[in-house]
Amino acid sequence: MFYQCPKCKRKWQYPVKKCPDCFEMLEKMNSKTAKVFAVSKISVPSLAHPHVPYFALLLEDEFKNKWAQKSFKEYSVGQSVDYPASADAKTVAIWRIKYDLSEAIEKIIGLIGEPNIKPKSKILIIPALNEPRHPYFKNNTSPDFLEQTILLLINRGAQKENIQIAGQSFNDIPIEACAMKSGLLNVCLKYGIPPLDLSKIPFAKKDDLEISENVFSADIILNLAMLKTGKACASENLFKFLNKKNYLGLKYLYGEKEIFKKIQTVLPEILTLAEADRIQTEEKFVSFLGLAMASRDSLGLDAVFNKIRPGKALPKILADIKMEDVLIAGRQLEESKFDNINI
Ligand SMILES: [Zn+2]
Repeated sequence: MFYQCPKCKRKWQYPVKKCPDCFEMLEKMNSKTAKVFAVSKISVPSLAHPHVPYFALLLEDEFKNKWAQKSFKEYSVGQSVDYPASADAKTVAIWRIKYDLSEAIEKIIGLIGEPNIKPKSKILIIPALNEPRHPYFKNNTSPDFLEQTILLLINRGAQKENIQIAGQSFNDIPIEACAMKSGLLNVCLKYGIPPLDLSKIPFAKKDDLEISENVFSADIILNLAMLKTGKACASENLFKFLNKKNYLGLKYLYGEKEIFKKIQTVLPEILTLAEADRIQTEEKFVSFLGLAMASRDSLGLDAVFNKIRPGKALPKILADIKMEDVLIAGRQLEESKFDNINI
């Protein structure tokens, strides 16, 4: 994405918002094409790019803007670089966040086929909200990620009154404390969307599961996951739709892998938008990855993430996932890897 001053026509590759010369608000240049302008083959590994050979592409759009991109696929000069969307439920979209989170969210949701948002669509959002921690610890969904998702929904025609942002505490800490410290409460208040504590509203009984009734009255459900190394955060976040007592009881009886199998059979379609810009490692450090991902298959998304950034062991819940069943859209898995370097 490039940004242009409507007055002096200067361009930037990052959203500086206002032109420093004219103080005009910059406009987004929505480029549709990317052609290879130049290509270099890299055969010498470096710390951040240990796998060779790969190709450094210099791409050019229809406005003559140029930018660099890594690729494991070889392209020749003049060739188009396209990222076709796929509406297949098994598709996992990967995109690199450059400087603009809104662009990345728009891209990942486009790659898996946007849901049909109408003004009357009831939208239920479940952010990752686990601990009362400041956003820079990357425990919970970032306020920025939630805000850009809300803005995207509003831009697509959704009405604020029909958006619900829900959460539930599965530990002893009140959900209000988590919402406040994570900065998510401020985002809710800014857009006039009252947060919803799922533990305070009725659950519907489905076999031995007790699932929040709101899940079945929503037209579109968004699961905003915050990915962490060595975990299956996107899938685990969906447990929050269960009654806490029911979840703990089933966990004791069968384990999380079995609970997930059960809820998969009763939950409606859920769209996961996952944040992996800066991720928490198993040692609880925060490390750069620079990715955003999306899928209608949260297990597939978690499996792809665990390939991109493997932990010490694969989470049990992902043990049966076959990578050959997963379809990747957007940036390829290999080029998204950022090996275990903590920067
Ligand atoms: Zn200007």
